[in-house]
Amino acid sequence: MRETLVTGGSGFLGSNLCDALLKRGYSVLCVDNFFTGQRSNIKHLLGRTDFELLRHDVIQPLHVEVDRIYNLACPASPVHYQFDPVQTTKTSVLGAINMLGLAKRLGVRILQASTSEVYGDPHVHPQSEDYWGRVNPIGPRSCYDEGKRCAETLFFDYHRQNDVHIKVMRIFNTYGPRMHPNDGRVISNFIVQALQGKPITIYGDGKQTRSFCYVDDLIEGMIGFMDAPDGLTGPVNFGNPSEFSMLELAEEVLRIVDSRSALEFKPLPQDDPVQRCPDITIASTELDWKPKVQLEDGLKETVSWFRHVLEI
Ligand code: NAD
Ligand code: UDP
Ligand code: UDP
Repeated sequence: MRETLVTGGSGFLGSNLCDALLKRGYSVLCVDNFFTGQRSNIKHLLGRTDFELLRHDVIQPLHVEVDRIYNLACPASPVHYQFDPVQTTKTSVLGAINMLGLAKRLGVRILQASTSEVYGDPHVHPQSEDYWGRVNPIGPRSCYDEGKRCAETLFFDYHRQNDVHIKVMRIFNTYGPRMHPNDGRVISNFIVQALQGKPITIYGDGKQTRSFCYVDDLIEGMIGFMDAPDGLTGPVNFGNPSEFSMLELAEEVLRIVDSRSALEFKPLPQDDPVQRCPDITIASTELDWKPKVQLEDGLKETVSWFRHVLEI
């Protein structure tokens, strides 16, 4: 049985990945420091012989024996990654060094959960992998953006210098069950506000766009990429190219929840990207991957999840 390490395995994407790997017959070592991850996300897996949980901070070296490494450890929501920005950069950079050192010693494949944030506030639209981005190096988002950019640099240098088999995945906004209700990201905020009859908080004029990918589609792409031949290192964009403004998203959430919450306009956070949409040509041609779940269907699943969690 293949032993797979998932760092950040108790988080939103990590816990969905653990489930999907176990379903496919892999055994899983989940490593997490529980900064944003929740025990409830993996509670149903505890006690299984093919699942092991280790409380550990990836800033520290890790000596384990595994066959594959998925490196997801890092807070992803702006609210969380800005809470302790120094820790965020350390997690991305030192975490990458340690996990790459582990992959090098073991001679195993390692996948990095990178992000569309490496493109910053882009001037090229949609964003393709050869675009170098437009990132502020000293702003409130930089700990995340630059940390992830440096991690990508480390991945490619370990590949060139040490022959480590890398897979660098640039993930665009993803949503679905197991997002934290207080995560601060737009989909969880809007759904929770709509369910609780509170005002929907629109930052800025709400005309900025994002492209939202449902978690099941993303995880399928992640495992497919890991399984692809060694030569395909990436970076590869993964996301859903259907683009929506935050006003359109708010309308859709209100309709699905059947809520009469009012819209409340708040200041736009600094360096908030105006437009974001992935060019997924590489993922679709080289990995035969395309997202299948429409926003409406994914939102319905996510609303049910939040109703359950919030007991509404
Ligand atoms: P999340 O906050 O739910 O999960 C992150 C997990 O990493 C949590 O379980 C947290 O406790 C753990 N973690 C944080 N710092 C750690 C450390 N130093 N040591 C060990 N564990 C640590 O976020 P998510 O949405 O599941 O994101 C997972 C990964 O995917 C992140 O690397 C994120 O940057 C990337 N990503 C996510 C999205 C998205 O839309 N969800 C988009 C782009 C990239
Ligand atoms: N490392 C780790 N687990 C291992 C092997 C290495 O955590 O099984 C860490 C190690 O502590 C080091 C980092 O990975 O800090 C980078 O390792 P590498 O071998 O590239 O560098 P070096 O040890 O030569 O600094
Ligand atoms: N946003 C919003 N209201 C909220 C939370 C976020 O209008 O309650 C906006 C935010 O300013 C951004 C977009 O929604 O333009 C996506 O924000 P999120 O934090 O989900 O992700 P990211 O900015 O990292 O793409």
